[in-house]
Amino acid sequence: MLRFAPSPTGSMHIGNLRVALLNFIVAKLLKLPLMLRIEDTDTQRNIEGKDAEIFGILEQMGVTWDQLVYQSANFATHLDYTQKLLDKGEAFYCHCTPEFLEKKKQEAVQAKRPFRYNDSWALLEKTSNPNPVVRLRGSAQDVVFHDLIKGSIHFKAAELDSFVIVRSNQVPTYNFACATDDFNYKITHIIRGEDHISNTPKQILIKQALSRVLGVPETPTIYAHLPIILNEDDGKKMSKRYEASSVQWLLKQGFLPASIANYLAAMGYQAPKEVFSLSEALQWFALEKVSASSAHFSLPYLRHLNHEHLKALDLASLAKVLGIEPAKAPLAQLFLEECSTLNELQDKLSAMFGPKDINKDYEGQNFYDKCTTLYHALKAMPTVADFNAFKQEAMQKSQLKGKDFFKPLRILLTGRAHGVELALLYPHLAPFLEQILVLKTEHGR
Ligand code: GLU
Repeated sequence: MLRFAPSPTGSMHIGNLRVALLNFIVAKLLKLPLMLRIEDTDTQRNIEGKDAEIFGILEQMGVTWDQLVYQSANFATHLDYTQKLLDKGEAFYCHCTPEFLEKKKQEAVQAKRPFRYNDSWALLEKTSNPNPVVRLRGSAQDVVFHDLIKGSIHFKAAELDSFVIVRSNQVPTYNFACATDDFNYKITHIIRGEDHISNTPKQILIKQALSRVLGVPETPTIYAHLPIILNEDDGKKMSKRYEASSVQWLLKQGFLPASIANYLAAMGYQAPKEVFSLSEALQWFALEKVSASSAHFSLPYLRHLNHEHLKALDLASLAKVLGIEPAKAPLAQLFLEECSTLNELQDKLSAMFGPKDINKDYEGQNFYDKCTTLYHALKAMPTVADFNAFKQEAMQKSQLKGKDFFKPLRILLTGRAHGVELALLYPHLAPFLEQILVLKTEHGR
């Protein structure tokens, strides 16, 4: 079984979604179940409703899961196992106060050596501090694991000092809750962000200790830590400060879920084709081919992919994603010439179907008089299906020609001074002419 284990503590980051997508693809490829585990044990940081947001985003992306678990439901098991680890001497109570540990850290800094916890400190403050933490005993041996993407990763025993598994308020740490659940649910593949590499030796030690005290063999686990995503400006981590790092933000900007999924699945991957769907990716995706080096996020490239996905939609699907009546979809399809997102398409459609402001300047020029003349001429005309015939008649009725005719015509028909050729738009807008020929009337002139 694989798992995607988001914490409901903030808006979903593209890095998290990439982890979800790759877990989903690999689970499908291997025909293994995928668990969605909401890691909600950090009650201080949990945000109400973030779980529902996660479900919604995954559903839009086409990511499905076979089992849903809220980690907090396993709280009793975590504490039960803690007791077993304590009973068998795999874990111990540590009464050190934060002040004491801080003092020891400062001493280490002064002596220019790395800070390591020393097991002999555990009971020094037993009488003064009645609220101990629980620590798992550190390792006497190095911990080495093979990562499918990063290769062999080695942690020296000296770095693996005893660490906290249950805080003084009785709440299990992330490492303990996560490793215990991975152990219990027999997780075979752990695919996650590379920021978790430093947690992996601790989680391996926890699982080994649990296996010993419970007498249950460990499930062999394949690790794959995905490289970090860097931002396009300064090449630093794509942190939450960048709005484009939020999946919700991208969706709000009018990027299709399919192109976001395409973009993230293709990151750091030599995909055989540029534009693909998740189900297509199942035909060739191999996790070990994901590049070990960090990937750069590029909004222009996402725009390009989104444009390609929009172009590939048939008219019915285009109408559906835009939420417009099917008869308007051919117009949207024509506007694709100059748009890359749903929002941009919607802006063009709103300009066309909204009331036209002929008072304002277009490209530094005012067309009020000519627009008014042409407007009245057009309103007096019967419906004409053919653009050439329509043009002839409108020119004749308005007595306008050349630029004096075409600019006002474009403004009246599209709400803008330039854009897609009118001859192409006209056959599709003609049925809506009455709706389109409306002027904004707040202030006359
Ligand atoms: N809750 C952790 C996170 O969101 C899970 C990491 C893991 O997959 O182990 O980063």
